[in-house]
Amino acid sequence: MAALEIDGLDVHYGGVHALRGLSLTVGEGEVVALLGNNGAGKTTTLSAVSGLVRPSAGRITYEGRDIIGAKASAIVRLGLVHVPEGRRVFSTLSVHDNLLLGGYAVRDQAEVKRRIDRVYGLLPRLAERAGQQGGTLSGGEQQMLAIGRALVTGPRLLLLDEPSMGLAPLVVAAVMDVIREINAEGTAVLLVEQNARAALKIAHRGYVIENGACVLTGTAADLRDDARVAEAYLGGT
Ligand code: ATP
Repeated sequence: MAALEIDGLDVHYGGVHALRGLSLTVGEGEVVALLGNNGAGKTTTLSAVSGLVRPSAGRITYEGRDIIGAKASAIVRLGLVHVPEGRRVFSTLSVHDNLLLGGYAVRDQAEVKRRIDRVYGLLPRLAERAGQQGGTLSGGEQQMLAIGRALVTGPRLLLLDEPSMGLAPLVVAAVMDVIREINAEGTAVLLVEQNARAALKIAHRGYVIENGACVLTGTAADLRDDARVAEAYLGGT
């Protein structure tokens, strides 16, 4: 069974037709890159999956269950966790308290502690800064914290919206390494990126969307070698 199946999805914002029959699949254990230019509909796709916008047509199934119309809070509890663009850490709360918030819906406090310890193991920089205010972290550290908080929620499918945004190349590579490790431990990932080069290094497969519809799909290697992708998203060959 696929982790996520989107079939024929349409989203309208008033007169704007943002998604036009979009279909894509994320298999269990896969990292799937969703690529496209500004305004192509990448963020809208994630928002529709996590219940933040209501599609006008199409189907979304998560682990075989129809989730269209479900509340965002219910979708999170199913293990489908969205890390939105722009990081959004709580700037006046400590790193540790930001992580604790990721576990707000988890009843078992011992499990929350185990998950936070795992995040500190995966992201030692956060452990060193556990008492520091979120807003004083560097951009890369804030991105790590946003991902760490999502891990405390207990995702089986993680939706990541442009985690490389605004980060220096070395930091982008570090963030991508962390995503790869999270995936290696069994979490499927739908990764929205404008940085196609970085995304295709860790993705198994990818989709390119334009004007709200998929125009190209293939394995990460196929997409890297595709002349159209190279020209439009990799800065030429
Ligand atoms: P970017 O990389 O710039 O974030 P994107 O691929 O994520 O782009 P979306 O944010 O999904 O694109 O936007 C798709 C289209 O829908 C765009 O034309 C955008 O202007 C429009 N849109 C997005 N959100 C809204 C909204 N709340 N109200 C009206 N139009 C919207």
